Amino acid sequence: MPERPSARPEIAALEGYHSPQVDVEVRLNTNESPFPPPEGWVDALADALRDLRLNRYPDRAAGELRGALAARYGVDAQQVFCANGSNEVLQTVLLAYGGPGRTAAVFEPTYAMHAQIARTTGTRVVAGRRGEEFELTAAAVRDLVAAERPDVLFLCSPNNPTGTTDAPDVLPAALEALDASGGLLVVDEAYGQFADSSAVDLLDDERPLVVSRTFSKTWALAGLRLGYLLGPAWCLAELEKVVLPYHLDAFKQVAGGLALRHEAAMGERVAALVAERERVTTALGGLPLRVWPSGANFVLFRPEARSGHDVWQGLLDCSVLVRNCASWEGLEGCLRVTIGTAAENDRFLAALGEVLDDTTEGTEP
Ligand SMILES: *Cc1c(COP(=O)(O)O)cnc(C)c1O
Repeated sequence: MPERPSARPEIAALEGYHSPQVDVEVRLNTNESPFPPPEGWVDALADALRDLRLNRYPDRAAGELRGALAARYGVDAQQVFCANGSNEVLQTVLLAYGGPGRTAAVFEPTYAMHAQIARTTGTRVVAGRRGEEFELTAAAVRDLVAAERPDVLFLCSPNNPTGTTDAPDVLPAALEALDASGGLLVVDEAYGQFADSSAVDLLDDERPLVVSRTFSKTWALAGLRLGYLLGPAWCLAELEKVVLPYHLDAFKQVAGGLALRHEAAMGERVAALVAERERVTTALGGLPLRVWPSGANFVLFRPEARSGHDVWQGLLDCSVLVRNCASWEGLEGCLRVTIGTAAENDRFLAALGEVLDDTTEGTEP
């Protein structure tokens, strides 16, 4: 038999991204918005669709969309980079600033794609650890940067999957340390609008800081695949060199620009989800679980007397799908629930109560 071509050994050893897409009644596993996008946006998009000239390549610079985002954040269009979801944003950062011979640092447990994308781009990954409560300290950040001098440091606040928001001294400490070592700080704010503070306020052409955000979570547009990065023009100019030409299609450019005109509706959705998050967190606190406070649109918890996997399966049997983190390093036994509509959250809480009450557990081999 002829030998099959083989992928690079680092790629062959990877597992890929796993998040089962199961058909259930209550889907609370991937941190999407439970609300559809605003109707006014849908109407405006339908109108705009007729004028799209899809026979032509799209505006390669995505000028209008970047201009609209720049206006939204009070920066120049050269300080905005857009891509097909923030995962592609992060991949582009690593293609330019990571790669063979370079190092990316993360603090586990955190968003798995930071390390995953680093590896697929040939970047070495070093991992520090978060504390007992999944907190990150300024000292831990300083120590890791001094020891490893990473070319790219990822912070994620609020952190997925723990919900942890970084203390106010963490970012300045990271910036100071990286300034000395010549590394780039990437703050992933996929859940930024759910939290009270943001790294966006620290953006400055003199600082090695970029902030990534997405339309997937707060903007109720996960299906659109649109993310963006805010940062110094000199940094974003390098990203433009490695991204594929015309990577951002014309439809998405228009849809994203129109979404920004519906910021008030987005704010209402975010406020409703934050209120529900607090209600769910309080309700979980009354069950035999460990619960961690969250600054995002999800909550991490760990059943005390039952295995995380059994509880996950029990919920699935009730047609409620949450994220099973039980086998992830540092998150043993944990599950993560996305905040849904009030009705969905009620279904989840009722099912969880039943599953935890179920005394038949342990009778199976
Ligand atoms: C969901 C998520 C992303 C990915 O967002 P897309 O824009 O949909 O690619 C990035 N970072 C974190 C921390 C996330 O949770």
